[in-house]
Parts: sequence; structure tokens; C-alpha cells
Amino acid sequence: MLRVALVPLQAVAVGAASWVYANSGQESADAQAQTDTWGGLCATGHEQSPINVVTADAVTTAMPVIATHFDTNASFVKNTGHGFQLFETSPETHEFNVDTSEVDSIGDSKGYSIIGGAKHNFYQVHWHTPSENTVDGKSFPLEAHFVHQLDDAALHGTYHRLAVIGLLYELGTDYECNEFLDKFWSEFPVEKGNAGYSGENFDLNAKLTEELSHGYYHWYGSLTTPPCTEGVSWNLLKKREKVCQRQVNRLQQALGSTQSGIEFNNRVPQPLNHRIVTETVLIQEEDVNSAVRSTVSGCFMALVALSASQV
Ligand SMILES: [Zn+2]
Repeated sequence: MLRVALVPLQAVAVGAASWVYANSGQESADAQAQTDTWGGLCATGHEQSPINVVTADAVTTAMPVIATHFDTNASFVKNTGHGFQLFETSPETHEFNVDTSEVDSIGDSKGYSIIGGAKHNFYQVHWHTPSENTVDGKSFPLEAHFVHQLDDAALHGTYHRLAVIGLLYELGTDYECNEFLDKFWSEFPVEKGNAGYSGENFDLNAKLTEELSHGYYHWYGSLTTPPCTEGVSWNLLKKREKVCQRQVNRLQQALGSTQSGIEFNNRVPQPLNHRIVTETVLIQEEDVNSAVRSTVSGCFMALVALSASQV
């Protein structure tokens, strides 16, 4: 009896270590394959990501303007085995840690963004194809996730108080390839691992400034990969960029080589349950200054709160 009981436990343990987006041979994300291999909060959570944003149900409300202040240059580009990523999920480091690809506290800040009126340190950006979040049931060929964490040293090394800025890309013609992505897109290794980057520096802020001015949808969700930690502030920009098929193909090719032929890396949309999606009021020119003032005020309040918590 004991032997029989142990077998399923081992099967679960192996599955958790090798989660998949679909079974071999499938051509799109498979909900059952994900349920079978992801486990934990991914299976039991009630505030999971991604979601389908139903624009007609979004509640319009005043939300602080998001402002990015990224301050970093890429020294390597990384294929995580599940996608392309710039920088690391750690508070400060720019370096690639071969052993853990995790926290190395030596290094400089990579900048920050003001999200929800509070300062969030920027960690990394990675891409999914097709998009994970959908809008009114529509999927997009590519989605970028700019991952941040609330500026509080006590959170370092945890998955708490994360905030993601999501950016969707629409498919353009062969003449509408995304020039920004082309600065580094072909440098990502096709196999899992990292490659040195010595190309020209690029300014992540410059590319996002215009998109940010068009507002965003906001809700609380989770990481879209195991361990699917909840409490993540999601902020999906309304303005989209263009990507061409060649660029989508490049990511698909890399995914195929690291995921046994599975050329996509999107989790299927999760139930919204009790959650509410909010959207920003479209800000008029004359309102921008007051919005900026309220953001600064929010920043100040966050600093006060942090100071208090350190007492
Ligand atoms: Zn992501």
C-alpha cells in the first residue's frame, strides 16, 4: 500500500519541477496541461493572471499617472528557457548569476517607476507570445511585462508587492517591425542561457513615455508562471506597439528549441472571480500638471509610510 501511495506523490513532484504550457505536439496553450503541471497557488488561487479584460465592465476611476525612470544598460541578454528577458529578478544587480540567476545584491539600481503613486524598483522585462492578457477576447502576438517591486528593502528576495506594466503589440506588416526591439531582439540566444550584449544602449523610458500618456487598465492578479504568487499589481497599457512576423518568429523559434517544440509561452486566461478592473480617466492637457502633482504627493505619502514602518 505504501508503495502505491508514493507513486502519485513523486509524479506531482516531477510535474512541479517541469511545468509546461502545453503537451508535446499541441499548437496553442492548453489549460489542462497547465493545470496538471503547475500546481500550488496556480491551481488553488482565486486572483490569478492573466485575465481577459472586458472593457465594457472596467470601472473608470482616477488613478495616478504611471511614470518610468528606468536607468540601466543591458550587459547581457537572456533566454530563460521560457522566453526572452532583459535584466534579472533582483533588486539591484545587472549581472547574470549562472548558478541561481537570482539575487545578487551587489550592483547599481536599475531605476524605478511610480505605479499607483508609489515608487517601485524596476527588475526586469520579458516577453510572451502570444499575449497572456487578452482584451475583449482578442489575443495579441506579443506582450511585454516590465516587472517591479515596491521600494522596500524588506521585500528583497520575496515575490511580495510586485507590480507589472504590461504592453501589448499588434501585428504590423513586414515594413512595421518594431525598431526598438530590433536593437537587441536578434541577440537573444536560441538556447537557454545568456549572451553578452555589446550593442548600442537603448532608453526604455523614451519608448514608453508616449504609451503611458494614453492610460491603462489596473487589477490585482498573480505571477503568470509558477509559483503564481498573488498580490501583483497589474497595469496594462491601453496604447499598443507594433511588431512584425519576423520578430514574433524569432521568439517562437527560441521557445520551440527550449520547450520541446512548444513555440509559445502564454498561460491561459484565468477567471476574474470577484475582482474589478479599473481604467484611468483620459487625462486632458490641462490636467496633466495636477496629475503629476498628485503623483508626487503619493510618492511623499509612500515615503512617510516607509519611514514609519522602519521606526
Ligand atoms: Zn510575464
